[in-house]
Amino acid sequence: MLMSQQRQEIVDYGLKMVRSGLTTGSGGNLSILSPVENLIAISPSGIDYHDVTAADVVVVDRVGQVVDGERKPSSELGFHLALYTAREEITAIVHTHSVYATTIACMHWEIPAVHYLVAFSGDKVPLAPYATFGSDKLANNIIASIGGYNAVLLANHGLVAVGKDMKNCFNVAEEIELVARIYYQTKSIGQPVLVDAEEMQRVVDKFGSYGQQD
Ligand code: 13P
Ligand code: ZN
Repeated sequence: MLMSQQRQEIVDYGLKMVRSGLTTGSGGNLSILSPVENLIAISPSGIDYHDVTAADVVVVDRVGQVVDGERKPSSELGFHLALYTAREEITAIVHTHSVYATTIACMHWEIPAVHYLVAFSGDKVPLAPYATFGSDKLANNIIASIGGYNAVLLANHGLVAVGKDMKNCFNVAEEIELVARIYYQTKSIGQPVLVDAEEMQRVVDKFGSYGQQD
């Protein structure tokens, strides 16, 4: 089976996504790019994460042709392909419908620097304008909005996170959900005091050497 290790990783992280409350049912999707094979493993469309096996994960080339797998790839294949083309340094993408990030996205707000952990994305989480799920327009909106950030809110839809590997990418999605929740809660009781731009730059720089570097 092509990309067997990455396919299993998609299964494992799909389950983690549901268990962490970042999505429900078959909502959201995940993919991993293998730079060696220049192929992408992506979750199948519309299958409950509890039922997905490694064989259900679809392997496609850089233009979306199915190379291995019997299932239909995620309906969001278009934006996954576009992101790997636009952001050469990333090898993993997670799309969630996590509740607090989606709440903010339904307000058509960005997430500002309400907490320093927003640095998992950058100095904020930008917002991509609404377009129908699975459409070229949505892919274009995501590319136009994400820039160099590691996360982007999708208006009336959810969140997309990107990373150097699946572990890192999943972490971005989890931490941004926490920041979204904090933002929601602060807005519920008043006006949050934001971290200023200079300090956010310091934190973003510090994140470059944070934790156990490999
Ligand atoms: P898929 O099951 O086709 O990946 O779609 C889920 C989704 O979140 C669409 O935006
Ligand atoms: Zn979605």
